[in-house]
Amino acid sequence: MEDFKKNLEIIEENICEACKKVGRERSEVTLIAVSKTKPLEDLQAVYDLNIRDFGENKVQELTGKIESMPDDIKWHMIGHLQRNKVKYIVDKVELIHSVDSLRLAEEISKQAIKKNVNVNILVEINIGDEESKFGISADEVKVLVRDIAKLDNIKVQGLMCVAPYVVDSEENRAFFHKIKDLSVDIMKENIDNVSMNVLSMGMSNDYQVAIEEGATMVRIGSNLFGKRDYSNH
Ligand SMILES: *Cc1c(COP(=O)(O)O)cnc(C)c1O
Repeated sequence: MEDFKKNLEIIEENICEACKKVGRERSEVTLIAVSKTKPLEDLQAVYDLNIRDFGENKVQELTGKIESMPDDIKWHMIGHLQRNKVKYIVDKVELIHSVDSLRLAEEISKQAIKKNVNVNILVEINIGDEESKFGISADEVKVLVRDIAKLDNIKVQGLMCVAPYVVDSEENRAFFHKIKDLSVDIMKENIDNVSMNVLSMGMSNDYQVAIEEGATMVRIGSNLFGKRDYSNH
């Protein structure tokens, strides 16, 4: 059995250390517990340690867990989202991190209007230009953000990236820095319905560097819950 309390203590220490290093407040960074593939009892154990932000990457798993877990959890959709599944989650999540096309944003807007809700989203950038990853290239971000801004019931809150897997997290520092720079550029354009308050970047391997470069949300799975077992998936 994983010692969630111990894991969380270490993560908290590291987050505080990273904040301190660059003169940021701990309150500027939200820890998202990435609970994909993990059983409800693990989520409950982490919930009992006062974590309220959870991230999932599959719609079916997400909706199942939403039904089974306490109501005060903020759910984050962090995985690739198919347009035909938008309707299942649009009124149930705090934030959709993984918007990478206008067609997906249009579907989110359509379903949000239907359900009379406003949906907060992030635009996902494939910062390492990796073929295996979702997200748009950094060059395309501004055009996409401007187009999404014209849609109803959807609000761009910032940017998200999944940086390349690296052994030395310093290798990703320039990528995180670039995301931050992009967000500053976009903010300067003062687009209606667009804010750049959220930068969702940094995972188990590199969250400290991401925080030093301006992350406001870090998505941590294995360092909190332990290694994932995909054998049943
Ligand atoms: C799985 C996942 C994470 C967490 O990864 P760890 O390396 O286990 O912390 C974060 N973000 C996304 C988009 C993921 O799919």
